[in-house]
Amino acid sequence: MKLTVLPEEFRRALPVMEKIEQAGYEAYFVGGSVRDVLLGQPIHDVDIATSGFPAEIKEIFPRTVDIGIEHGTVLVLYQEDQYEVTTFRTESTYQDFRRPDHVAFVRSLEEDLKRRDFTINAFAVQEDGTVIDLFGGLQDLEQRILRAVGNPHERFHEDALRMMRGLRFVSQLGFVFETETFEAIVENHALLEKISIERVFIEFTKLLLGSHRNEAMKQFVATGCFEYCPGMATSKEHLLQFAGLIPDPFLSETAAWSVLLDHLAVPEAQIGHFLKDWKVSNEFLRECRELVWGLRQRRKGYYTPMALYRLGDLALKVETLLSYYGHPGETDKTAEALAKLPIRSLRELAVNGKDVMAVCQQKAGPWLKETLAHLEQAVVEGRLVNDKTALLNAALAYLPEILD
Ligand code: ATP
Ligand code: MG
Repeated sequence: MKLTVLPEEFRRALPVMEKIEQAGYEAYFVGGSVRDVLLGQPIHDVDIATSGFPAEIKEIFPRTVDIGIEHGTVLVLYQEDQYEVTTFRTESTYQDFRRPDHVAFVRSLEEDLKRRDFTINAFAVQEDGTVIDLFGGLQDLEQRILRAVGNPHERFHEDALRMMRGLRFVSQLGFVFETETFEAIVENHALLEKISIERVFIEFTKLLLGSHRNEAMKQFVATGCFEYCPGMATSKEHLLQFAGLIPDPFLSETAAWSVLLDHLAVPEAQIGHFLKDWKVSNEFLRECRELVWGLRQRRKGYYTPMALYRLGDLALKVETLLSYYGHPGETDKTAEALAKLPIRSLRELAVNGKDVMAVCQQKAGPWLKETLAHLEQAVVEGRLVNDKTALLNAALAYLPEILD
């Protein structure tokens, strides 16, 4: 088969391919972008595979960056664009079902394509558009089937992450697993335990964001993969409930994770631990915790002023998440309510700690934080105006209560 028209992204890369070939090496488009072109979908990164070794590629191009030289990847900067150019390789020795501990560079395209995960990810495209399909990937694309390249058992033993990658392709593409591939995942799902959680997180998050999320979640449960994901082993029923949600795609990673956490019934105090086990950033963790808290508050009734103050703009995001629970959400009303809050943070309070210490003639201590919190809440709830004199009077009046 031959692509009659190369997509713009590939055409722009042709001079890079030509230069590699002029130097005496082979060069092909490979990986996800080829799959996406064949599916008629937009492509992101253009990956090039070559028989040239990294040092040989670096000699051809004046501007390169060593982004993964030990895996054979050199980033080639060409005009405005950049391309990952990776040497053909086999992954000969695997330790502990993780990534290969030893990468062998080879000169054979076939060897390189053999080590790829699924047939639909194992194409190579020549400069003239000819598609090299050694494993029946075109037919699988046509039939919307995910099939491991070669023996699925061996492939999942080499790198157990491939099982999670398979599930995320189910979600992104709406494909179904070929029977032997599916059975090999069921049989080998426990190998996931060996995979670094950061890699699992990336694939699982892509699964959550895919447009066939519900089907993929059902397969995530059916294959047993959920048993080796932190915090999920005993949550089969909750996961299936989540898989029955209205199928609208999630618009952000934190949106997806928050609705999931809510469905898993993770108590507020446990959300931090749960997400720490997934090794997410503090920023991510904080946003999810607030969103779950907001969702749970909001489903009991409209926000109190303090709830709105705590959430800030995240309240708007909570409103958008209500649709997954069959509620329309009130974004306009919430935007207005946020705009009407007398203050949006403690910094906007008309007094600070120093002012309060001075008027109360007390040294700093726990009383100060509590007094400020008291003033803050009174202002947010509209019981006090945000005015320096009014606030200092209120602080003085509060002092006997707190120093008792
Ligand atoms: P995306 O469109 O999300 O980038 P992708 O298929 O391009 O999907 P990448 O992680 O960018 O995924 O990998 C590029 C290619 O490298 C894949 O298409 C596949 O051929 C190969 N590959 C990636 N990860 C693995 C793996 N764990 N095992 C085998 N082959 C892999
Ligand atoms: Mg890719």
